[in-house]
Amino acid sequence: MAAPLVHHRHPEFRELFARVQENLRYVFQTSERVVTLVSSGTGAMEACIVNLLSAGDTIITVNGGKFGARWGEIARQYGVPVVELKVPWGEAVQPVRILEALQNHPGVKAVYLTHSETSTGAATDLQAISATVHEHSDALVCVDGITSVGAHELRFDAWGIDACVTGSQKGLMIPPGLAFVALSQKARAAMERATLPRFYFDLRRALAAAETNDTPWTPAIALVAALDLALAHMKEEGMDRIWERHKRLALGLRAGIEALGLRLFSDSPSYAVTPVWLPEGMSWKHFQSALKTENGVTIAGGQGEFTGRIFRIAHLGYFDELDMVAVVAALERALARCGYVVEPGRGVAAVQRTLMVP
Ligand SMILES: *Cc1c(COP(=O)(O)O)cnc(C)c1O
Repeated sequence: MAAPLVHHRHPEFRELFARVQENLRYVFQTSERVVTLVSSGTGAMEACIVNLLSAGDTIITVNGGKFGARWGEIARQYGVPVVELKVPWGEAVQPVRILEALQNHPGVKAVYLTHSETSTGAATDLQAISATVHEHSDALVCVDGITSVGAHELRFDAWGIDACVTGSQKGLMIPPGLAFVALSQKARAAMERATLPRFYFDLRRALAAAETNDTPWTPAIALVAALDLALAHMKEEGMDRIWERHKRLALGLRAGIEALGLRLFSDSPSYAVTPVWLPEGMSWKHFQSALKTENGVTIAGGQGEFTGRIFRIAHLGYFDELDMVAVVAALERALARCGYVVEPGRGVAAVQRTLMVP
């Protein structure tokens, strides 16, 4: 990113962008185009609303956390009626709930889902839900894959996903500023019919420009250069191995968490983030500060009604096994500092037992 910029209308950039576009298809497991936008992930979510729908179209959304709620918030701003399925935080929506909603609301244009609900750490069975939607309706399956792309198995083509978004700062491991949208042929047809207003995020323009490895507006050149490198690393490791690594790290970390006597928040936890109940009566501020200032470890707190009640540990992207050992060692220290009695090494040993290959 610190290298001198190439000019974005110069052949050198087109060469770079061509490679990036090709490798993005691999990451999404699709033969379709993946559009690159200059925005954070939410911009790509908005693009999935304005490009696929018309005013008066009804959609189904799943509100089981902050990000699932966002699909509904965006849609309502554009006059799109929303059938919102409420799911308790930490739980994943079951395919049968989607089926019921489809049966109760025939003619629904699209179902908007969150694969990995970062605010609660719950992962959804996307493959099963996508199959249900396609079996029982003509609705598009649109997915917020912002913390699942590059962490969870996600096969855009094979699972019949119609639109999937992610952002550069999550599984793609580079700074924030780029967002991505993969679109099926069915979604592209819907895009031609959609009448909601759009300009900067008009994916028709982005798709047309992408044909010649170009962008309609000035791209974030330095981020595209960084992405090129990140995608090369991902290709070298391979998506199967990336998914496997995330699963391994998540299970290793969770063994450590449970050995410490802590409880996981979700019974369907994502491989990108582990949500944990804060021990009863412990101050989140005190715990967070003990982790950060004394151990240099940054974790996230809860959101919404779970602020101060849960904490979340990331293992998305550039993480390895010793990071899991280190974070559990830091948890032991911070917990002890906050008055929670732990036998030193108990959590670490459990992580090591899970992750060490004999
Ligand atoms: C981070 C995140 C978003 C929001 O992305 P921004 O880049 O902050 O706009 C949306 N959905 C999920 C699941 C996320 O983790």
